[in-house]
Amino acid sequence: MSVWADLVGQDVLTAQLRVSVDAAAEALQGLTATGMTHAWLVTGPPGSGRSNAARAFAAALLCERRGCGTCLACRTALAGSHADVTRVVTDQNVIRVEEVRRLVRHAALSPAGDRWQVLIVEDADRLTDSAADALLKSIEEPPLRTVWLLCAPTVEDVIPTIRSRCRAVVLRTPSVSAVAEHLVARHEVDHAVATFAARTSQGHIGRARALALDEGVRNRRQEVLRVPRQLSDLGSCMTCAANLVDAATEDAQPRSDALDTVEQSNLEVTYGANTVGVRSSGYPVARKELERSQKQRSKRFIRDALDRSLLDLASFYRDVIAVQLGSPGPLVNQELAAEVATMARGTTGEVTAQRLEAIFATRKALEGEVAPLLALESLMISLRGGLHD
Ligand SMILES: [Zn+2]
Repeated sequence: MSVWADLVGQDVLTAQLRVSVDAAAEALQGLTATGMTHAWLVTGPPGSGRSNAARAFAAALLCERRGCGTCLACRTALAGSHADVTRVVTDQNVIRVEEVRRLVRHAALSPAGDRWQVLIVEDADRLTDSAADALLKSIEEPPLRTVWLLCAPTVEDVIPTIRSRCRAVVLRTPSVSAVAEHLVARHEVDHAVATFAARTSQGHIGRARALALDEGVRNRRQEVLRVPRQLSDLGSCMTCAANLVDAATEDAQPRSDALDTVEQSNLEVTYGANTVGVRSSGYPVARKELERSQKQRSKRFIRDALDRSLLDLASFYRDVIAVQLGSPGPLVNQELAAEVATMARGTTGEVTAQRLEAIFATRKALEGEVAPLLALESLMISLRGGLHD
């Protein structure tokens, strides 16, 4: 099983990267004068597997056999524990300059092994301007055996000075059949469930996996898709908004709690709280800083969960508008075909388009500071609009 096996529906990208891995191996042996591309920008829609692609590429660069998938280098690079692979994954809204400076210093070192040192920035779209500036120099004059892999949704999400110095490779949205085949082959999921998960996740591999493997996730999705038919009056709008926020909070809580616990115990170890009862002087500051970042992360997890619900809601209205416009092709929510048809008859394409716009405006608003409940309440009222008035 090669390192590329888990990249679902990405044949073109895989072929490109394989050629580059060959070129990199020749560069290491001094066989080519042109050498290696030191900065890459991996783009693709959310869930298409950007970070998997970056890790597979890193593994192939570090493997003696160019990505066999079984040697120690491949396994540790894929698992994120290889000494010559450094990953920046942020659960905050931005990647700060301090973080990038640390990375750039690391990039200047020689690799621990005899191949490459790979630095992966998973959310290059979240670099602050000063962080991007700090990164720029290392990308412009890369150390001899350092390779930068930046990931972002689209090329436009990365500031021009950075992206113009990177070689871009693009992941596509994988097809429903490619995702379904992957779920059956790799996770032994029943064919019908795999097809359902592949269709409703709309090319988001992680979401497809969660839908295929977790009945709770499937149930939550079903709850969300009941919302359009529940918005009969103002009271039901408020209830639906509250239910969506509660479900998102319940969804996010276990992940936040688990990470918080680990970080808190690391902090206690670092500041010696468990030895003689005396902590070093930095403890209160460090603790406050930790609490601040945990609070931010917890908020972000809730917003991420809400965003998934909003995408599911949007899929329903997309189906409605597809019927209204007479577009060919299967519905995303085939099992709700009757409900979709009823709503399509009861409203106009214009109303549905406005509802979709309201959903996307709410997604955008949730990236900012707006209180989730308020945003959802106002969305539910917009979604009800045009139906009964
Ligand atoms: Zn290998």
